[in-house]
Formats: sequence, C-alpha cells, structure tokens
Amino acid sequence: MRNFVHKAIESQFAHLGFSPHAPISDYYDFTLNENEIPEYINEVELYQKQYSQIKIFKGIECDFIPGITTDFSYFKQNYPLDYIIGGVHLVKVPNSNEIWFIDGPKREIYDNGIVAFFKNDVKKAVTCFWEQTFEMIETQKFDIIAHIDKIKMHNQDRFFKEDDVWYTKLVDYAVDLLSKKNIIVEINSRGIYRMRCKNFYPSDYILKKLAETKVPMIISSDAHKAEELPLYYEEAKLKLKSFGVDTLSFLGIGKWQQVKI
Ligand SMILES: [Zn+2]
Repeated sequence: MRNFVHKAIESQFAHLGFSPHAPISDYYDFTLNENEIPEYINEVELYQKQYSQIKIFKGIECDFIPGITTDFSYFKQNYPLDYIIGGVHLVKVPNSNEIWFIDGPKREIYDNGIVAFFKNDVKKAVTCFWEQTFEMIETQKFDIIAHIDKIKMHNQDRFFKEDDVWYTKLVDYAVDLLSKKNIIVEINSRGIYRMRCKNFYPSDYILKKLAETKVPMIISSDAHKAEELPLYYEEAKLKLKSFGVDTLSFLGIGKWQQVKI
C-alpha cells in the first residue's frame, strides 16, 4: 500500500482511494477477511498522517451476491470507511447453489460456466449477470459501481455481440436505474492494460447513454499493483470528453463533488 502512495505522489495525484475487496465468505481468497479490516484502516490512517501532500481515502469494494453477501451498509456502519464501491464478479445461478465466476485470469472458468450452469444458453447467463447488477443497484447503498460491463471481458465477441438488441436493452435498463439512484459510474481501464478487452469498462455504447443521462462519472485504473495506478487517465478523459462528459466526481470532505475535466 505504501508503494501505491509513492506512485500516486510521483504521478501528481491529488487524491488516492484504496478499495480492497470486502469479505464474502471463506470460499474466496481475493477478499479481506473481516479481522483484517481494522488493520487495513490503521494502515491507511498511518499514511494519511505521514503524507500530507496527498489526500488518501479508505474505501472497500463490496461484491453483491443475492442471499449470500452481507448488506453493504454493514461495512459503512461498522468501520470508518469513506466510500463503498459495488461490483458483481460472481453470478448466482438461479435455483441452485452454484456461483459463476466471470472475472479472473481464466477464460475457461467463464466458458465452462455457460455450459455447466446455463446449458449453453448465453443470453440466459448474461441476463443473470445484469439482473444481479440491477438488484444490487436497487437494494444496496453504495457510492460507485465498478466495471459495470465486466461480463464482456471474457466474451471477446465470441458468445454475444454488445450491439445485440437483447443486450442493449439490459444496458439501457441499468443506466436508467443508475441515474435514478445517483450512483457514480467508473470508467475503468484495467481491461485495456491487462489486454483482456479492447475498450474501457464500460463500452462506448454505455458511455454514450451515461453521458446523455448525465450520470456522474469517475476515472479508475482499478490498479492491483502500484505501477498500474496512473495508466490510461488521459485516454479516459479524452474518451469521456468525446461523449460530452465534462465533469468528474471526486470525494471532498464527506461528500461527492464535481470537478471540470
Ligand atoms: Zn472489481
């Protein structure tokens, strides 16, 4: 974490927000355990004292899996966190206890899940991802939605096209919900620099819709290593501007504010 702070200062960031994954259950090793949260918070608070040249924030990325994950508000109520990012990485298979992992480096897990859990019905599988996203937006309290179209990452135009009408209808519905709930959407470059997809999350079609509906936006590199932190910010700004987005959200003291790009 200290390396991230150094990299952020070196890259002339004014603000830096951390967001490890919130605990889900014992099954997933990419998250914090609940007993590690105080340690995480203490570490950020130490850096806040040591580095006065940058504002550092303590966030957490919560996964939403219906019936499985803890209500997001639990984390905000029990720990002094500045913000919560909501994201779907694990799709609950309807009428079963199976979970379809759509993220991670292994494309086979994505592909095999479509066959094993959805009998090769891609539309059904992808719709499940989006419906879980809708339910997260409708039932959970959070500040930012992470990589909203993560479902495209391992698709690579193989199983569905992002301009299929059934797909754009799901997207339109998500944008509508987000604008009603005033949730900030991130433009996230991780898929690009990890060479997992050609575009930002979200893709151009969604960015255009978000811009039209004036949904607040934020740029994130979703960095898992310090050197990834400053990647693609300029490209993201240009991309947003090309769709007419001219402000970005940032966390001021206790509340979200807007700054001109
Ligand atoms: Zn994520």
